[in-house]
Formats: sequence, C-alpha cells, structure tokens
Amino acid sequence: MFIALDDTDGNDGGCTTHLMLRIISELGLDVKGYPGLVRLNPNIPYKTRGNAALCAEVGMSCGTRSKIGEYMGKPVFSSSAIDDIADYEHAAEAAWRIVLQEARLNDEKTNPGLIISREKPDESFYLAALRSVLSVEDVFQRIKEMDIICRYAKNGRGLIGAFSALSWPADKTTYEMIMYNYPHPQETPKEIRKDVARLADEFHGTFNNYDDENRHAAIFPSPRTPVLCGVRTTDPLAILGFPAEVRSNFRIESTGYMLFQTNQATDDHYQKYFEKFEELSSYAFNAIVSSRPVAIRGGHWFFNFFYRGKEHKAAIFEPSKGMRLLVKDLEMGDYVRIFGSFIDGKINIEKVRIIERSIVFVRINPVCRKCGSRMQNQGSENFRCPVCSNRSALPEYTEMERISRRSSYESPVAGRRHLVASIQEGAQAS
Ligand code: ATP
Repeated sequence: MFIALDDTDGNDGGCTTHLMLRIISELGLDVKGYPGLVRLNPNIPYKTRGNAALCAEVGMSCGTRSKIGEYMGKPVFSSSAIDDIADYEHAAEAAWRIVLQEARLNDEKTNPGLIISREKPDESFYLAALRSVLSVEDVFQRIKEMDIICRYAKNGRGLIGAFSALSWPADKTTYEMIMYNYPHPQETPKEIRKDVARLADEFHGTFNNYDDENRHAAIFPSPRTPVLCGVRTTDPLAILGFPAEVRSNFRIESTGYMLFQTNQATDDHYQKYFEKFEELSSYAFNAIVSSRPVAIRGGHWFFNFFYRGKEHKAAIFEPSKGMRLLVKDLEMGDYVRIFGSFIDGKINIEKVRIIERSIVFVRINPVCRKCGSRMQNQGSENFRCPVCSNRSALPEYTEMERISRRSSYESPVAGRRHLVASIQEGAQAS
C-alpha cells in the first residue's frame, strides 16, 4: 500500500514530513525502502515553504528490518519486503484522522490531500508537477482512472502533490535525515548550530551542511516547524548514526527523526528539450550572452541572451560569491549553459556554466611609430606622443583580460533551491 500526502502545514507551523512519520508510527507500519520526500515545482505560488510532498510504501515487515526513524521513543523500521495490509479504508480513515489533528486548516493556503493506492502510476504526473502548473481537475481525472482512495479538505489542492509524490520513480535520488522536536524545537544558539553542522560534515556523503559565505548552519530551517534539522546526503547508511550523536553530544531535545529518500539536488525540475519558455517552468539550455550584466537598485542584475534566434532577459537576484563573480565576468558573445526558472517573462538564474568565452577587445592608446612611446589621447581620435609630439588618428586594440578562470557559478548554500544540484561539487544524486 502506498500512502501519499501533501499540503498540511501553514505559515505558523506544521510539517508534512512530520505527519508522515507520525502516521507510519501510529498505524504501526513498516516502510519498504525509505519514505519519499518529493520536491515539486519550486515556482508554485501556493507553496508554504519548499513545495514538498510525501509518499511511502508501507505494510507489515516480512523481510530484514533496519531502524530508519523514531517517533516519541518508538522505532520506525524499513523492511526489505513487506506484506500488504488488507483494510485500505481503515488505514485511510486512521491516517486522515491524524492529518486533521495536525494540519493547519485555518491557514488559507493549507489544502490537505491524502492518497492510499495499491499501485504507483507512471512518472508523467510527477514530471508535469515539477515543471508546470497543474489544476485540481487534472488530479481528480487521474485519480478517477485508478483504483485509489483519497481524502481531502478545502479545495483539495494537496492531492496534486500527493499524486505527484506517488508518481515519483525515484531513479535519481539523494537522502535527508530529518530530526524533529514537536511542536517546535527549542531555540538553538548559533555556536551550537554551527557545531551540529560541523558534526554532520563528518558523516560520509553529506552536503550543504554549512554555508561558509553567510556563516549559516544550513541544516537548521526556520524555527516555525517541528523540524529541528535536516542533513542531506548521498549515503543513507552512514547518516543513520547522526541522531544518536546529536543527542549524546548536545543538550538538544528531540521527539523523533526519520530518513527520507528525496529528489533534492537532482536538477529534476529543469526541462532540457522545449519549444518556448513558459511562465513558472524551469529550464537548462545553452545560450549566447547578448549584453553585459547591468545592476538596478537593490543589487539585482540583468543581462540579455539569445536562445533559438530570439533575445530574452535573465535576472540574477542579490548575487553573492560565485554569482557576484559571474556578473563581473560575463561578456557579450559568451556561450553559456543557463539553469533557471522563467518568471515574469525572464529567466531567474539559478546557476550558469560558461562553455566558451568570447574574446573581447578593448581600445587603447597606440604606440608612437617614430619613438615607441605610448601616445596620449587628446579626444576625437586624436593621439599625441608625449615624447616626440608625433600625431596619429588610429587607436590600437588589445584582448581584454577576463577576471576569473572559473567556469561555473551558483548561489551559496543558503540561497540554493532544494532541487538544484551544486555545480562545484558535481551532481550529488545517483
Ligand atoms: P508542505 O511541507 O506542507 O508540503 P510546502 O511549502 O511544501 O509545504 P505546500 O503547503 O504543500 O507547500 O503547498 C504546495 C501546494 O501546491 C500543494 O497543495 C501542492 O499540491 C500544490 N502543487 C505542487 N506542485 C504543483 C503544481 N505543479 N501545480 C499545481 N499545484 C501544485
């Protein structure tokens, strides 16, 4: 049985990953593999935070069990094989009761949806939900076509995320170990947060733990949810010891944890083959830069590029570190690979790789043909030698030195979107 869930949290608290942990634990179920934490279209206006949806295959273990989580002192197990449970309706009722207890229904943006299904649909709905904007009618149509039990509240938009998470094929994945303290973690001092992030660094395969540029322990999210911290990794087995280490090294209270399999840092949201840019979709494509970046007030930068013979605009918002180098270094004629989202008629840059640099020539004062000294510019193509007073109307041109030899640029850890794989570290997902 697959159980999928979305849109339960609100601006003032809650977290759908925590609800999934609670449902699995309170229903006394084991998980086949790992529960899935699936990020969808990052440009969706309906999202509360990171547009995450959840799906887990659950049942009663009939294989080898290993502990992947804990809820209020009770272990949660992953199993290599599971027996399906017989009564889907009963499971749906029990799970929905828990959702209604924890969901922030008073928040106008919260529209929970729960799906119980025997089967996984193909990946088409997942890909559409990552890369475009779907309607509730779209998901009701798909639910009707399959033998699925669903529950929803208010406008039912959460069913879009739930059905998308159910459709996630999990062929490119990373993992995240999430620790909780329900309903809210205590305030953790900045220094301790840094130490916990450094501890996470010691676990093989972890990434994005600490943002050196902003001196920020990126594993600690906004304190309005039950999430204490979340450590991203490519090595699911190595990270299993992390919660115990946190508990024994720091006096931080925690009511539970669970290891999730995710589509984070996979670049799954980028469309690579497309006809034209559509609002709120994300793209990876090669283009030719057609203007140098210019700044507007607020520290935002814009430049133009040619793609398939048409000129478009790109925006870089509050660039820092790598992105700051990019705005200084980008030149007309550069052949680049752009990764970004199309919003308000322009591409918001997430990362850029310069494939081929254009050679830029700059005008300089000529050398005097008579005595070899550098001439002085007297204005209007009029150069004069300061040594022998020879005159010339012809400037010289020289190749401009480009600032940086680096060829890839991206946001610092804190500004990186969940789905974006780091260029510097290479793609994390396997
Ligand atoms: P949570 O942790 O509760 O999942 P969130 O920030 O991840 O919070 P949600 O509260 O789930 O975001 O809100 C996102 C809403 O947008 C959900 O109702 C989800 O079903 C819907 N949604 C996600 N992707 C799409 C899409 N491509 N088209 C239309 N709706 C979408």
